[in-house]
Parts: sequence; structure tokens; C-alpha cells
Amino acid sequence: MIAKIEQLLKEVEAMHASNAEELEALRIKYLSKKGAINNLMADFRNVAAEQKKVVGMKLNELKTMAQDKINALKEQFENQDNGCDGVDLTRSAYPMELGTRHPLSIVKNEIIDIFARLGFSIAEGPEIEDDWHVFSALNFAEDHPARDMQDTFFIESHPDILLRTHTSSVQTRVMEASQPPIRIICPGRVYRNEAISYRAHCFFHQVEALYVDKEVSFTDLKQVLLLFAKEMFGADTKIRLRPSYFPFTEPSAEMDISCNICGGKGCPFCKHTGWVEILGCGMVDPNVLDANGIDSKIYSGYALGMGIERITNLKYQVKDLRMFSENDTRFLKEFEAAY
Ligand SMILES: [Zn+2]
Repeated sequence: MIAKIEQLLKEVEAMHASNAEELEALRIKYLSKKGAINNLMADFRNVAAEQKKVVGMKLNELKTMAQDKINALKEQFENQDNGCDGVDLTRSAYPMELGTRHPLSIVKNEIIDIFARLGFSIAEGPEIEDDWHVFSALNFAEDHPARDMQDTFFIESHPDILLRTHTSSVQTRVMEASQPPIRIICPGRVYRNEAISYRAHCFFHQVEALYVDKEVSFTDLKQVLLLFAKEMFGADTKIRLRPSYFPFTEPSAEMDISCNICGGKGCPFCKHTGWVEILGCGMVDPNVLDANGIDSKIYSGYALGMGIERITNLKYQVKDLRMFSENDTRFLKEFEAAY
């Protein structure tokens, strides 16, 4: 019996298989129910009592060795199945991090969603514009102080070409190409020649809305403003309109909302006034309608515009405007849960 075991131990030790079929044959030969090792186990009861201990240990040694050997060979074949010696080629080379949506895009989409529900459709236009679409068609007189107010990037060799300073140029393009009813929202990037600091940048983003139809009144504008403020900043939000001046609207107003941080009680964020300014608006100046081929005797309209950075700051208290364009993933990741 001992000799038989010794013989099988040698066989098992030398065992090798060049493919999965050979391995399965070995398993059947040694480890299956009717295999060599089980046969020995069956014979074990015939072993003399005084030898049982030694033979039993040898038998166990054989069985363990056969199992280990078969498992080792099996593992080898499984790895070889990939055709790459145990290297998993489907794994990525380095941990891939999923990007997150930019906070300005999150807020822009929120604004678009609100206006889309009111029937506004998106209009877009070029960022490189001409004087007509950015200034002249919007009632900026040739020597109007507002032209100086907005420090503009002009093309040196062609002073008629410039980077748009507001998305109102898109309104001009839509009005000259179509007749009312017009109900559009224009999101986009704009440029101004400003020194970069924590509160100013040479480019930023705006969303403007324009509605032109028969009998559009300031009341319509106010309703839309109130709905927008409540949707964007919460149902308790109050609005306040202050008279203002823009060349392209008459009358014009600036809108404040009750401070969403202190709820209107007063805090450093709202400079203890309880109100924060969020957008400019007004009734489209009849001169603008006429300049763009829309009869101001028949039609009237309202327009409103806001900075996306400003709205994002109010929602998320981003203190430094430059954070938006630095692509610091630690900053951008903070908005992961926001969409
Ligand atoms: Zn406040």
C-alpha cells in the first residue's frame, strides 16, 4: 500500500498538461470518484491497524498534493485563456476619473429649463460680431456714453469687428430675420476688456430673454421675473424692481431678489440690505424694434438679461470669479451632486 502511494506521489509530482482537455483527463484519472486516489481510499480499510496512522497520513498527503497540482495547472490555463500570461488587458492603464458638469453649465441649464417651460426657445449667434448688431441696432447712439461704459475688444485692423459685449446681439439677429411673435432665450459667452480680478473677468456668460408680440406689457415682464426668481431661488423669494437705464429698453429696471442667504434679514453677503441685484430688464425701446424691421406701432416687447456667473455665485457662494475658468478639479468636483 505504501509503495502504491509512493508511486502515485511521484506521478502526481511529475504531472503536467498542455491543454484543458489533458488536465481534465488527469483530474479524472486521480481525483474522480473512481480515480486512483479514491481506489486507494477504498483499500484503506484493509490496512492493518498498526499501519493505519502512517498510511493515512501518506494518503492525505497524496490527495492534497494532487488537488493542489490540479488547481495550479487549472489556474495556469485560465490565465492563458486571455492570451496574455496572467495580465488582464481589459483593465484600464490608470484609474479613470469621470468628469463633472461645470457649475456654470449646471446653472445655465437650470435657467434654460425655467424659460423653456414658459415657451421660450434657444437662439444663438456669433461671438465675433459687428458694430451694428452689438450697438447701433440696439439704440446705442454713435457718441453714446454707454459705448464707453462697455470697454470692448475691437479688432485693430477693422474697428467695425469686435467681440460681443452682450448676448443682445443675438436678439438683433433674430429680430431682423423674423417677425413676431418672438419668444427666445439667448445663452452665451461675452467679452469685455476688464482687468481680471476675483470679481471681474475679461469673459463671462449671459442669458437674455426677449419676447415680442402684440400688446406685451410690463405686467407680463413682471410675472415672468417673479416666476423665474421663485423657480431659481425658492418659493419664498421676493423681487424688487428699481428704475434703471439701458439704451435698448424703455422703461428699464434692475431686479433685486430677497437675499437667499439671510432670507432678507441682512447679512454681509447682501451688505445688510436684505436684497441682492440679479438682472436688468425693461420694455424693448420702440427704436430697437423699428431698427430691426419690426413695426413698433403694432408690436411691443420685453427683454431681460443676467450674468450666469452672478446667479451661480448667489446659488453656491463662489467667492472668486476666476475659479470658474481655472479648471481646478477640486473646485469642479464640489458640484458633483448639483445635477
Ligand atoms: Zn443677506
